Amino acid sequence: MNASPKLVRVTEQGVDWAKVRADFPTLKRTVHGKPLVYLDNANTAQKPHQVIEAVDDFYRNHNANVSRAVHQLGEEATALYEGARDKLAAFLGANHRDEIVLTSGTTMATNLVAYSYLLPRLKPGDAVLVTAMEHHADIVPWQLVCKLTGAHLKVAPITESGELIVDEFVAALTPEVKFAGVAHVSNVLGTVNPVKELARECRKRGIPLLVDGSQAAPHLPLNVKAIGCDFYVVTGHKMCGPTGTGALWARRELLESMPPFFGGGEMIRTVSFEGTTFADSPHRFEAGTPNTAGFAGLGVAIDYLSGIGMANIAAREHALLAYATPRLEAIPGLRIFGKVPDKAAVISFLIDGVHAHDLATLLDQEGVAVRSGHHCAHPLMQFYGVSGTCRASLAFYNTEAEIDALVTAIGRVRKLLA
Ligand code: PLP
Repeated sequence: MNASPKLVRVTEQGVDWAKVRADFPTLKRTVHGKPLVYLDNANTAQKPHQVIEAVDDFYRNHNANVSRAVHQLGEEATALYEGARDKLAAFLGANHRDEIVLTSGTTMATNLVAYSYLLPRLKPGDAVLVTAMEHHADIVPWQLVCKLTGAHLKVAPITESGELIVDEFVAALTPEVKFAGVAHVSNVLGTVNPVKELARECRKRGIPLLVDGSQAAPHLPLNVKAIGCDFYVVTGHKMCGPTGTGALWARRELLESMPPFFGGGEMIRTVSFEGTTFADSPHRFEAGTPNTAGFAGLGVAIDYLSGIGMANIAAREHALLAYATPRLEAIPGLRIFGKVPDKAAVISFLIDGVHAHDLATLLDQEGVAVRSGHHCAHPLMQFYGVSGTCRASLAFYNTEAEIDALVTAIGRVRKLLA
């Protein structure tokens, strides 16, 4: 079976970032004849060769369905799949592996909570509290179950600089609020929300809190117990893992109280035409054949990130952000959205008179990949009165030279459009 990568990237001198970067094959390619400068990491992260090889190795050597076959390959596939659960549990600081439901990503995880946990509990007049900076994956599932039950959404506001107004969040935790959802890190602003404090306030009032960790898990050391929330969701493809992988962490007693959301194979104990009894959690939430190859890869991705060390990753990305911010701010007419100190390495920006898509398209011609548009955060765009922004999002494998390339490319585009 494929062993997890030997991590030779961290020495007594610290992390060898050049060696780390060399692990990522995509970063070696060119785009439109220019070296690729990949600054779209908040969208999806690139994969180290160790992860790519783990997926390849799964299909070459271990391919079988999980938990259904007693033969050797079936056992190996199951071990890889269940191994990812163990690794996620350790990575997130869970009490127990059974608190981890493997999902196709964050979107699947929030929908699972919406339909399995929230729907049976909401009544007309109840409310769900979110913040003005949420991704659609932490808005729309709640809206759907609100519509089914006669409940409504409440929104905690943010400041112009992109900071959650904590007092207003707390003031909004009134008795009709039965659930709250908040991003740990905003995918547009980079704001790191004070999730520990928010969880404490929710807990005092008996309101379950879901923290969307999509943009935190790839960048920060995490411990769900220390945060004190009730649900925490992550998506594997932003953590250098394969697409179609992710997880829901939930307190065990909450998971045990939740009925299945999807029905089918793998999630049952017995089935007859008179009725069905279900497997224990978390398997009761994992109907059907999962993305086993993806989870084999995600296990290796987690080893890879842990091998570098999340504190090292956070420090490296902070240094890159500190390098990038003043250089971008020095560009005439450039406005940055999200100016909270100690934010994550996400820089959303616009240039006076230039449409975000035009800017991103021209930057692509220079080999620079940034995302443009609403970033699945329509309400946040409405708050700022813009239809979209450009977003450069950094990862530990980026370099100062790539930030220089971004700045130079923006300069060229400005001249072109002048
Ligand atoms: N939440 C946040 C903050 C995100 O940035 C994203 C992805 O962009 C998601 C949720 C959705 O993740 P996925 O599409 O992998 O389910």
